[in-house]
Amino acid sequence: MYDLIIAGAGPAGITAAVYAARKKMKTLVVTKNIGGYAASSATVENYIGYQFISGAELAKKFEEHLKSFDVEIKENTEVLCFRKLDNHFKVETDKGEYECLTAIVATGRKPRLLGVPGEVAFKNRGVTYCATCDAPLFARKDVAVIGGGNSAMDATIQLMSIANKIYLININNDLEGDEIMIEKIKKSDKVEILNNTNTKEIMGDKFVNNIKLQVNKSVERMLDVQGVFIEIGSMPVKGPGCDVNTNKKDEIIVNKRCETDVPGLFAAGDVTDVPEKQIIVAAGQGAIASLSAFKYISKNIFDS
Ligand SMILES: Cc1cc2nc3c(=O)[nH]c(=O)nc-3n(C[C@H](O)[C@H](O)[C@H](O)COP(=O)(O)OP(=O)(O)OC[C@H]3O[C@@H](n4cnc5c(N)ncnc54)[C@H](O)[C@@H]3O)c2cc1C
Repeated sequence: MYDLIIAGAGPAGITAAVYAARKKMKTLVVTKNIGGYAASSATVENYIGYQFISGAELAKKFEEHLKSFDVEIKENTEVLCFRKLDNHFKVETDKGEYECLTAIVATGRKPRLLGVPGEVAFKNRGVTYCATCDAPLFARKDVAVIGGGNSAMDATIQLMSIANKIYLININNDLEGDEIMIEKIKKSDKVEILNNTNTKEIMGDKFVNNIKLQVNKSVERMLDVQGVFIEIGSMPVKGPGCDVNTNKKDEIIVNKRCETDVPGLFAAGDVTDVPEKQIIVAAGQGAIASLSAFKYISKNIFDS
């Protein structure tokens, strides 16, 4: 029986684990990977203590910090559900079951799918959702970035120094996001912004060769590209919080102590309804969730 099981090892889960270790809670972290979304950010300039650090480097530092404590970690494992029994949880994963007194869902978010023909067929054969991971594969190639917000612009900026030509395919009238990024993109002669443009299909043979677009809801256009970066936002991975209350966006509703409506089950980071999805906010919530779990055990388990 663990005191605490944490699903996810992004900034929220890792911080929660460090706090739990310092409270000497018997803790298990079950995660698909270590680092989470933070690792895929090209540059992080707003995590206090580092004026400038790459997402990958920051994630590495988080991992080193986590591993300096005596915390059990199961990587490449997916938590399916924290199922509440009388005064503890049965934890169902894709590789077996565990039991714990308290649990934290820190599973973050996953990329939103475009939902057009060819997207699934060409995934990892030209279609990708991570510029930081895959941009180097498209050196001197022509690529399309689908989206018009900060994620799409972050991907475009990363590709500017690698790809030959970047088409930024935006369904809206104009780009929306940080002015600094918009300016940088508009100045680049490698980027062609196609506003009011909808992606209809991704085509190719073994790998992507072209995409079919619809401009201004009428004119069809074909573009020859070898890569398609889909950057149209993300959605919460609330899976392990199988019985908790969520809002309309499927985000887990938490109070300021990171408690969900299920006693003993806490949530932290991007998977919650916290309005700001940022590394520092996720880390802060991870700390709160862990301390709340500790208080829950002291009050409800040892006192009973
Ligand atoms: C391109 C990009 C750039 C960004 N740049 C910045 C920035 O500069 N500054 C900033 O502050 N924020 C930035 N962000 C936001 C930041 O990355 C997130 O707010 C932060 O990573 C959220 O942390 P988290 O721990 O809640 O979730 P995540 O980082 O998403 O981590 C979730 C973890 O849960 C694991 N997981 C998922 N499902 C399961 C499951 N069922 N079972 C077990 N494990 C599971 C994942 O493998 C992962 O380890 C950026 C995001 C993106 C996409």
